Amino acid sequence: MKLRIGLGFDSHSFEEGKPLKLGGVKIDFPKGLKGHSDADALLHAITDALLGALDEPDIGELFPDKDPKWRGANSEVFLEEALKRMEKKGYKILNLDCVIVADEPKIAPYKNLIRKNLSRILGIPQESISIKGKSREGFCKEDGLVCFCNILLMYED
Ligand code: MG
Repeated sequence: MKLRIGLGFDSHSFEEGKPLKLGGVKIDFPKGLKGHSDADALLHAITDALLGALDEPDIGELFPDKDPKWRGANSEVFLEEALKRMEKKGYKILNLDCVIVADEPKIAPYKNLIRKNLSRILGIPQESISIKGKSREGFCKEDGLVCFCNILLMYED
């Protein structure tokens, strides 16, 4: 059996009047995230963690934000491409652990909705998906949020 670990990080600033999506779930908040695609920072962090674990090119290399093709794209498309690459290499996801750092919106009320949606996309049980909301405790006052994801993959010979 082989194990591989991946780390993903993503940050986006807020933009007024744009819907906010995290992990593919719409969050009730007056601001969304600025970005070329739908700017779902959590899906971007998960995608990059998966690509990193697989030693594949990162999300920016595969889906450049200069490419008009990805304007307003549903970030689920990026994760699906990473999943295809994982299947091709014969790996499976054991678990992932994610942190969303934001003073607002509060993540707790959405945790289970996000886990449920990620379970659908990734095809793994909700028990294998951890989502944690963290306030920034005064650190880094920028108007936006950041996401981290650790992912563990397994390959059975
Ligand atoms: Mg991003």
